Amino acid sequence: MTTKPAAAAARATVYGYPRQGQHRELKKAIEGYWSGRVTADALHTTAAELRRTHWRQLAGAGVDEVPTGDFSYYDHVLDTTVMVGAIPARHRDAVAADALDGYFAMARGTRDVAPLEMTKWFDTNYHYLVPELGPDTVFTADSAKQIAEFEETLALGLTGRPVLVGPVTYLLLAKPAPGVPADFDPLTLLDRLLPVYAEVLADLRAAGAVWVQLDEPALVQDRTPAELGAAARAYRDLGALTDRPKLLVASYFDRLGDALPVLAKAPVDGLALDFTGRAAANLDALAAVGGLPGRRLVAGVVDGRNIWVNDLSASLTTLGTLLGLAGRVDVAASCSLLHVPLDSGAERDVDPQILRWLAFARQKTAEIVTLAKGLTRGTGAITAELAANRADLASRANSPITHDPAVRARTGTVTGAHARRAQPYAERATAQRAHLGLPLLPTTTIGSFPQTAELRTVRADLRAGRIGTAGYEERVRAEIREVLAFQEKAGLDVLVHGEAERNDMVQYFAEQLTGFLATQHGWVQSYGTRYVRPPILAGDISRPEPMTVRWTTYAQSLTSRPVKGMLTGPVTMLAWSFVRDDQPLGDTARQVALALRDEVDDLEAAGTSVIQVDEPALRETLPLRAADHAAYLAWATEAFRLTTSGVRPDTQIHTHMCYAEFGDIVRAIDDLDADVISLEAARSHMQVARELAAHGYPREAGPGVYDIHSPRVPSAEEAAELLRTGLRAIPAERLWVNPDCGLKTRGWPETRAALENLVTAARTVRAEL
Ligand code: GLN
Ligand code: ZN
Repeated sequence: MTTKPAAAAARATVYGYPRQGQHRELKKAIEGYWSGRVTADALHTTAAELRRTHWRQLAGAGVDEVPTGDFSYYDHVLDTTVMVGAIPARHRDAVAADALDGYFAMARGTRDVAPLEMTKWFDTNYHYLVPELGPDTVFTADSAKQIAEFEETLALGLTGRPVLVGPVTYLLLAKPAPGVPADFDPLTLLDRLLPVYAEVLADLRAAGAVWVQLDEPALVQDRTPAELGAAARAYRDLGALTDRPKLLVASYFDRLGDALPVLAKAPVDGLALDFTGRAAANLDALAAVGGLPGRRLVAGVVDGRNIWVNDLSASLTTLGTLLGLAGRVDVAASCSLLHVPLDSGAERDVDPQILRWLAFARQKTAEIVTLAKGLTRGTGAITAELAANRADLASRANSPITHDPAVRARTGTVTGAHARRAQPYAERATAQRAHLGLPLLPTTTIGSFPQTAELRTVRADLRAGRIGTAGYEERVRAEIREVLAFQEKAGLDVLVHGEAERNDMVQYFAEQLTGFLATQHGWVQSYGTRYVRPPILAGDISRPEPMTVRWTTYAQSLTSRPVKGMLTGPVTMLAWSFVRDDQPLGDTARQVALALRDEVDDLEAAGTSVIQVDEPALRETLPLRAADHAAYLAWATEAFRLTTSGVRPDTQIHTHMCYAEFGDIVRAIDDLDADVISLEAARSHMQVARELAAHGYPREAGPGVYDIHSPRVPSAEEAAELLRTGLRAIPAERLWVNPDCGLKTRGWPETRAALENLVTAARTVRAEL
């Protein structure tokens, strides 16, 4: 295709950039500060150097407008809390005494004061700190951080565009502060908050900012008319300010839907919209409202949260269409580049051919610049880039890695029957009861036992070549012996091997499945200084050989009690990886499910009667808009059933999820057709048990009676009391006794004591039946 030159030169920009640095300098400096090894001054210096490096990287690549204020020592929502002065009462003294220490106290808590709650940033794997607001909240403007970072770009001679969390999203992400009634609606504070934003905007203008970006991703979720009305009011008021920079309102992660006409009508100077994936619907919606004549449109055409090379030609087509809809069109990633690793160029172990399919933050920046150039000067100005891009896309599309004939042939033969167990649940339950011979209120754990420093050292030794595979495996077997001996002595009924061989529940399987890639430096911020390296699900998935069977059978050889096989489910494998974007997610899930199904079948053939398939991510990948839930849940639950339906009726399938709020997916949980589910429940006093009962959930369930997130050991009486509460909702024939989640982050002393108490509690309550 050819594109005619645009009237105004298109600018290249991004909304945010990875914060930590190529060598995770920021993480090291912050953790050093926490431990007293790094001074505050040294931390500030490291941070300022990183910001400079990143801006220079962006400007050097040809980005015209660099973001400012997106950098953070912990989280940009927490930074917004500081900017609007909404410091929770319990942290005010600490913040007054020392702003930096007070900031980290809000993020992480101290011995005496609890931190802010942390939760997922929309449907990404980034976590933000939840603002706590109430009717008494007083907002005050503190633009210091925003101004300082903007001025740093001025000093470098760059054009900076401050990026702020928008006021509507800030309030929609907040929750009632402790002690405030749960039905308090933070949005009622909008009129109090807007003057503070007005002040910050005036300060930024005074500092020289021409444009300021206000991020409103909360508007891509289903919103009530009142919430949309609040958004309309917010931008009417901010737009009406006289002393302000030009306003760019940004949204990302999905389509704006009903919020699009609201923002398009607002008296702001431009919109930044996502045009990737499901958000591509923004294009027609924008056309339907007549576009943004005379105003600025920033087009997010490069996927900001996945790692695949862009289809430049397709993006140019989109950009060409958008040219007719706005006064000026600029080019960007769909969202902040915070959600992708920094530089694929740093990878040494990835096949060079495959490396060309990948685009991390630096590569995406180059794509954005190329697209802006193509849009401004016509495709003739980027012929070499387009040709190289076509070659990379063709290499990916035609690769045996992305199209493995054996995998394709197998998925082609899958029918609905493969995803259905041979007998209905009620009949299976009877068969399993006879086969397993478990007592009422059977006791078990969720899978992992403490991952001791020693175990981590042994794994590091293996990686570094200091010990061989044989030595490593003997060490794992020794751990399994210890875990089994403890469980037998404690009197647990269904045992586990303890997962000593697993570094991470997704990575362990990704490393063994064909089609997944690992990176060396592909770190992405999960929260604060915690970074993860998600595997890349790059190709068709197959399982060259069994992955867990020898560990489970070794454990089973040590005991006459049933040992539970332990796998990570297909939805969680996808949720915690970068997934391919060249086929529907459901197709990818089906491939992973078939590979895991072989593992389930092999475990059964090796004598395993109880197999748990963990799906802690089932709910977190729920699409942002309710209209998309059914389609997602259909493929997600089918993938789980495909994984687990190859077994005999008397083989018991467990699943596990780590959360208590699942009201909106309770039907889907039933659709998994698992025999037993374990869930987090200790902190909510068995609330899930009541909810399951209220929904008529017919299967066996283990609401957790031991909060594993804390080193605190629950007493036997406390656990027994929770069990009695559980029994009021779930009959004894269907109630299991287990902790909330895996024990890998716990130490051995508290694990021992807590599990002994848990068994005592089960025995006490059994005697009362
Ligand atoms: N089986 C896993 C474990 O016990 C489950 C972890 C999880 O649910 N996140 O560690
Ligand atoms: Zn869990």
